[in-house]
Amino acid sequence: MRVTEISTSNWRNLERQKVSLGNRLNIFCGDNAQGKTNLVESVYLCCIGKSPRTDRDKELVCWGKDRAYVRVRYTCRFGDGEIAVTLTNGEKKQITVNSVPISRMGELMGYLNCIYFSPDEIRIISESPAERRRFLDIDLCQTDKNYFYSLSRFNKALSQRNNLLKQAKSVDEARETVFVWDEQLADEGAKIILKRRAFCDKLKIFAKETHSALTDGKEQLELAYVARINGENYPELSKNYRNSLANDLEKDFVLRHTSSGCQRDDVVLKINGIDVRTFGSQGQLRTTALALKLAELKIFKNLIGEYPVLILDDVLSELDSERQKRLLDFDPELQILLTSATDVPHSLAGDNCKYFLIKQGVCMEK
Ligand code: ATP
Ligand code: MG
Repeated sequence: MRVTEISTSNWRNLERQKVSLGNRLNIFCGDNAQGKTNLVESVYLCCIGKSPRTDRDKELVCWGKDRAYVRVRYTCRFGDGEIAVTLTNGEKKQITVNSVPISRMGELMGYLNCIYFSPDEIRIISESPAERRRFLDIDLCQTDKNYFYSLSRFNKALSQRNNLLKQAKSVDEARETVFVWDEQLADEGAKIILKRRAFCDKLKIFAKETHSALTDGKEQLELAYVARINGENYPELSKNYRNSLANDLEKDFVLRHTSSGCQRDDVVLKINGIDVRTFGSQGQLRTTALALKLAELKIFKNLIGEYPVLILDDVLSELDSERQKRLLDFDPELQILLTSATDVPHSLAGDNCKYFLIKQGVCMEK
């Protein structure tokens, strides 16, 4: 799939812009703080419904203005489409897909998919398990609408259960109603675990392959989903989930939150048998992040039949020339939106490339 046009109005520092993209490599150059990330962030917004940089939509509206608008036109194997987002200060954001308003965020998922790679993405590997779950959740929500709905229901039930644990005067009082939430958590949690596990089983094959290629076969990357609750299949997993919640109730009442479940799961990454998060060098963390991104591209192609749009925000300068080339030459079918504060030489970009210059919130084709 490919983005064909981006239009913005009062979107951060990009006031009124319309940019037509090429179908391969699109390079957005410019000095620091000119609006390069802002432009590609608008594409991410139309894919996922929020910014990769903030959960506060208010920050996305140009300072001093009341309303921001972003529209992305795209083409995919099912035809052409258009996603538009209007952010009005103090109101719920409005999203339309092909001019039809959507009422739930889940309805947006899957129309336009993207993989976002910025230097910050290294945190998937280096930071807490929450980052790795977020990484899985974003990919799963984009490729499986039902996963999005399961996750929403799960999060709602979890917060209700935690509220109950905070408000109950005794464990017996909590026990009277907690089963309602336990049922929902076990049903949805089991689905989430099974889907994350299946996704990781595929991802680990692609990640191992791409990592091995990036390190000339010197390093072996292993990836595994580590769940707190186990079970071979759905009935077994949901039963174990229910039992685990029931067994932990007294402990949870003391802690005043739910301690067991998939909200605590993790993805473990090892290089040659050694945990990357704890012992990986900076270079290894970066290579692993890159391997994961390339693996994500392959898994999307495998799951949905075409590549998502690849957004590379400021990552090129962090890679050596061999890896830069590998990334940009990944597959001629892939559309790339790349930002860079330094020039990207023609020898690296190749022929099928469109250059843009972004200066003070204005984007011009070079
Ligand atoms: P760098 O090369 O440093 O990454 P960039 O070109 O990617 O720079 P952006 O992150 O796109 O820069 O930000 C450009 C400018 O937009 C920044 O100076 C920032 O202060 C400004 N900006 C951010 N949010 C808003 C907003 N809501 N309204 C107006 N300007 C904003
Ligand atoms: Mg930037």
